[in-house]
Amino acid sequence: MRRLPPGATIGILGGGQLGRMLALAAAKLGLKAHIYCPDLKSPAFDVTRDITIAPYEDEAALALFAESVDVVTYEFENVPARTAAMVAHHRPLFPDARVLATTQDRLTEKTFINSLGVPTARFAPVDDRSSLAKAVGAVGRPAVLKTRRFGYDGKGQVMLREGLDLDAAFGLIGRQSSILEAFVPFEREISVVAARGIDGTFAAWDIAENRHENHILKTTLVPATLGAAAAEAAVSCAERIAAALDYVGVLAVEMFVVRDAGGRETVLVNEIAPRVHNSGHWTMDGAVTCQFEQHIRAIAGWPLGGTSRRGRAEMTNLIGDDVNDLNTWLKDPSASIHLYGKSDARPGRKMGHVTRVSAEDSA
Ligand code: AMP
Repeated sequence: MRRLPPGATIGILGGGQLGRMLALAAAKLGLKAHIYCPDLKSPAFDVTRDITIAPYEDEAALALFAESVDVVTYEFENVPARTAAMVAHHRPLFPDARVLATTQDRLTEKTFINSLGVPTARFAPVDDRSSLAKAVGAVGRPAVLKTRRFGYDGKGQVMLREGLDLDAAFGLIGRQSSILEAFVPFEREISVVAARGIDGTFAAWDIAENRHENHILKTTLVPATLGAAAAEAAVSCAERIAAALDYVGVLAVEMFVVRDAGGRETVLVNEIAPRVHNSGHWTMDGAVTCQFEQHIRAIAGWPLGGTSRRGRAEMTNLIGDDVNDLNTWLKDPSASIHLYGKSDARPGRKMGHVTRVSAEDSA
């Protein structure tokens, strides 16, 4: 694909806050954005003129959308395979359909990751009650039973402790095709947010340390507390994954940090998010190039921007009622505030985020 000129149009599947911030980043670079989303009240619609409100299965609407843009991307990984194929029939889709197929299914994803020599928690497939018993034999307890598809923010997961009846556990996740993973006694959760350009250039930001509340990301701290060897290994895992997928755009690789028997820090990959990621929001205020601009640059065939950090960064998500603390944040001179334009602060809903960047030696 040739390098898109300023004025070209980026098509974005999905109209949530990630689509909104991608559209804003496109505008910063003099590019236009066309957002496709079935939901009339999409936060991304507020920031761009070209919108399509239609289901992801609407072939005619998808064709018209794709024909009206120069390249297509997405802000969520559960884009239906057929939707991706239809769009890709008309215009380049980045990241491509193979990336979606690999990352939408936890079993395919983990098998792929291990095939690169990149470590994960031990895992085994589960299709019914008897394969669950076999998987428990292979993986042991405690373990985490996860649906193969459509899990996010801890949904579609059951912790399999000693004593929990297997039939009950399989019932709790709706008797769906699943994967059983060994429980990882991690010290920290981290993510490598990085980009790969059309020419294969790879650039990662410094590693993010992520803290969750109720299975939802609450705070990201950058740089993560991590030794140099583990940090190097983590970035290398992300680079190998991106190269093997011939990836174009920004991706996040979520990892656990554990101590091995010798007391050394090691990293295990948990999952790949084939898109811009909440743990990369700090880059909007804390890095030379933010993840949204980087993604747009990559899919437009432009060179990647610099990923240097401007200081220590702390990103706090405003989830549900947290947004009622807005006045306190507004009075904090170090706080850079981002609100997503959502009117209804339902519990667990990401309403915005705040980033504070401080001098490197102030922590
Ligand atoms: P996931 O949906 O795979 O991203 O998992 C959501 C969260 O559940 C992770 O961020 C961890 O906090 C926790 N978790 C998932 N898998 C494991 C595991 N195998 N061992 C320990 N904690 C886990």
